[in-house]
Amino acid sequence: MKRREFLRATACAGAATWLPFRSGRAADGASASGAGAAADLPARSLDGAQITLARTDISDLAASLQGELLLPTHARYEQARRVWNGTIDKHPALIASCVGAADVMRAVNFAREHKLLTAVRAGGHSTSGKSTCDGGIMIDLSPMRGVRVDPARRTAYLEPGTLLGQLDRESTAFGLATTAGTVSNTGAAGLTLGGGFGRLGSRFGLACDNLIGADVMTASGKLVRTSEKENPELLWGLRGGGGNFGVVTSLEYRLHQVDPIVLGGMYTWSWKDARAVLDFYADFAPRKPDELCTDLFMRSTPNGEPGVSILACWSADHAAGERALEPLRKLARTAQGNVTATPYVKLQSMFDAGFADGRKYYQKSGLVSTLTPKTIETLMEVFQTKRPYPLTMQLQGMGGAAHRVKPDATAFVHREALWDMGIITNWDNDADSAANIAAMRVLWTQMEPLTHGFYVNSRSEDDLKAFRENYGDNYPRLVKLKNQYDPMNLFRLNANIVPTA
Ligand SMILES: Cc1cc2nc3c(=O)[nH]c(=O)nc-3n(C[C@H](O)[C@H](O)[C@H](O)COP(=O)(O)OP(=O)(O)OC[C@H]3O[C@@H](n4cnc5c(N)ncnc54)[C@H](O)[C@@H]3O)c2cc1C
Repeated sequence: MKRREFLRATACAGAATWLPFRSGRAADGASASGAGAAADLPARSLDGAQITLARTDISDLAASLQGELLLPTHARYEQARRVWNGTIDKHPALIASCVGAADVMRAVNFAREHKLLTAVRAGGHSTSGKSTCDGGIMIDLSPMRGVRVDPARRTAYLEPGTLLGQLDRESTAFGLATTAGTVSNTGAAGLTLGGGFGRLGSRFGLACDNLIGADVMTASGKLVRTSEKENPELLWGLRGGGGNFGVVTSLEYRLHQVDPIVLGGMYTWSWKDARAVLDFYADFAPRKPDELCTDLFMRSTPNGEPGVSILACWSADHAAGERALEPLRKLARTAQGNVTATPYVKLQSMFDAGFADGRKYYQKSGLVSTLTPKTIETLMEVFQTKRPYPLTMQLQGMGGAAHRVKPDATAFVHREALWDMGIITNWDNDADSAANIAAMRVLWTQMEPLTHGFYVNSRSEDDLKAFRENYGDNYPRLVKLKNQYDPMNLFRLNANIVPTA
């Protein structure tokens, strides 16, 4: 059955027979476990085959959950199935809206027993839509949001659906912080498990380097605690190996003392200064102190002049920061904008509006170690070419402390890289999707040779061979972990490590 027919069958069955499920406890406190499916449910297995889920099994799952089990007829289904990127339009057969580890365990057991295609969703920001699927089960962690900071131990404990803004706000209230990404409504779990670049990364390492413990619901439905002392090999794998080994139901981070007011902001130059800015940056960025994090942006729009910007975040003593920023300030005499005393959390949400939920996005990215004259030449050419869609490039910094970690110290192998070079575009009309995506793919053929390897969290296309090569020498060790914790490859909607057991 083709995808469209499958969806039509699903929708028809739903319209004719299905009731929305409320399970466990209804809003008024009365048990609603008696609510049941009126019909069997067509679904997709792990290998893509069509299967049928018996109505009694669905009813049993619904009754066992404290959260809701959403079927396509449920009023909340439509909203719950949607993810950040509007080009992803998938329809899971079931959405298990989990409110605790017990719900996750029941959803995992159900998925394993039925060999059901399984997606795990935290913040839903995977550009390629890894946190949803057609015809399978979405294990939705978004109701599980919460942060507990232990200021004495400098530790933060996160529920798995927590967004980065919550982590930043809770920890900075205690004069503490850890590396997090640069858009505040991104999920902490997905970002950390794949790596996690951010504005404290050159000082404190990647987000995954600061993950010091986790609870993991493995494919067998067992909750495994991992830390540097308990099952440390699993922690090694979580630090860059993505969601391959199970559903992480709790994350524990190392926090660092950070002044909640940083020297932060952005300078933007007009196009006539672009080459001088790039030449400056190629020399300045690799030599800057760890406390200074910088990202370089280039932008072009269908109408109007392209531009280039440098964002800076100095997170230590301000007087020392002024000295470190001196060369940048000199260059910025011809720029607009400023780098000034700013709340860290304000800096961390300054791009939120530009990445609104539900718009259509496409991105390509790869890792870069040096900004060679050839790279600068190519970037100049790319951004002075007029295109019918807006284009933004971010050279996101990942040097300093993140760079000094040994490639085999965590599953995140690409420690030689200094930047993740990503290009992204966005649009609103479905009619533009095919042309924009095709154009971005062609454009990337020009830029990809400047990169080596990629950041799994920014990857748009699935390619098992590319994933294997990208994990580099760490791959055999990751396969061993996969064999131990997920030999049936239940958790395959990620930068997948294929088990051999
Ligand atoms: C606007 C925007 C800004 C971004 N900025 C940055 C940035 O500054 N730095 C950076 O490093 N990255 C950044 N990213 C990339 C980001 O790291 C990925 O999109 C990441 O996947 C987001 O995590 P999520 O929880 O929101 O994703 P989801 O889509 O929910 O999940 C992504 C993947 O992680 C898995 N997963 C999520 N939670 C769990 C869990 N608890 N247990 C097991 N598996 C899980 C999912 O199954 C899926 O495979 C950005 C992305 C966007 C869209």
